Amino acid sequence: MTHFKLDGFDMSQKAVNYAADSAVMKTYGRVEIGFVRGEGCWLISESGDRYLDCASGIAVNTLGHSHPWLVQALTEQVGKLWHTSNLYRIPSQEVVAKMLASLSGLEQVFFCNSGAEATEAAVKIARRAAYERGDAERVTILCASGGFHGRTLGMLAATDRPLFRTGFGPMPDGFDHVPFGNLNALRDKLGPNVAAVMIEPIQGEGGAREVPDGYLLGVRAAADEYGAVVIADEVQAGIGRTGQLFSYEYSGIKPDIVALAKGLAGGFPIGAVIASKAVGDSMTPGTHGSTFGGNPLAMAAAKAVLEILSGDGFLTEVRRRATHLDKLLVSLQTQFPKIISELRGRGFLRGIKLSETIDLAFLVKTLREDYLLTVPAADNTLRLLPPLTISHEEIDLAVAKLELALKAITKHDSK
Ligand SMILES: *Cc1c(COP(=O)(O)O)cnc(C)c1O
Repeated sequence: MTHFKLDGFDMSQKAVNYAADSAVMKTYGRVEIGFVRGEGCWLISESGDRYLDCASGIAVNTLGHSHPWLVQALTEQVGKLWHTSNLYRIPSQEVVAKMLASLSGLEQVFFCNSGAEATEAAVKIARRAAYERGDAERVTILCASGGFHGRTLGMLAATDRPLFRTGFGPMPDGFDHVPFGNLNALRDKLGPNVAAVMIEPIQGEGGAREVPDGYLLGVRAAADEYGAVVIADEVQAGIGRTGQLFSYEYSGIKPDIVALAKGLAGGFPIGAVIASKAVGDSMTPGTHGSTFGGNPLAMAAAKAVLEILSGDGFLTEVRRRATHLDKLLVSLQTQFPKIISELRGRGFLRGIKLSETIDLAFLVKTLREDYLLTVPAADNTLRLLPPLTISHEEIDLAVAKLELALKAITKHDSK
């Protein structure tokens, strides 16, 4: 192993005080565990401890860690070609674009490198399509309260979290918000200035909140009536996470634009926007771009993920295992009715909304100390985002750990 020594900062040392010494900007309140290896649903730390991963790098490691099909695909590509730029045709990009188009029933794909870039591109496409139709006033993007679309300036304006914006103003114009799941409120805001409605069919960061039954059908109809397009932000909920390839499939609607990222390449950075021909045709040469977007490494990883996900019976099996998790969670709620106020989400984007008296951060920490990784979300909701490949036994283990932690918390709270 290479041994780095830099001004007394010894990277091989196990117990460095990173918080004090780190040159990494402190944009995260990081946990002091460093992982060095991953196997399936397990992460192994520097000190050799094994953690059951129900976080998946925030819904990224779709097929867990070190999945042989992904390792092979990426390893082969690493030895061939990394990057050429979009000045040239990228053959594997054509293949992945065709896969995404056929899986979504839409026609055109733009590749970028992250979720915020995908949602931002989705907004640009919606506005440009209106502009090209001679409807240049149609610029407003309607978003839902409690949503999350990313951290660029544009996506901060789209995200209804005023705290995220503090000190970063001025915000770009052209974004407005409607109360989550309220169709009448949305209809009130629709008009000749609205280019698009951008919605997460299941809010991830917002607390694994699913829009009410029939809501997306209503959004689709209202958007059509008022000449706006529908953007589904599937950055977190897409790519099989909810048991369907795209979470909007449960509603029966077809969006005009779909933003993807997190799980699409199983851990390799990627973003993608799928668009109908009607809106995609407005994006002519020079209107948008990305240096790294759709590079051969990302394409090899995405192709491998999509091959597995669209394989025979894979998503059926995901739904079967998610049903098992659901059963266990329902009985956990019966056992702790005062702690668990609501079960949320679908498939493996699950939320456990805790009653107000429960400290979410403390629960996440308690679980981590028992080697189970979970993710906190807004609205005092604990998120479970395991790899889609999690086994029955691993689900049993995760819920057993949850049960223990909830028992401990009950004791902690009664003190
Ligand atoms: C994470 C997320 C984003 C932003 O993705 P980044 O890759 O962090 O830029 C956008 N939308 C949703 C729904 C997300 O969950």
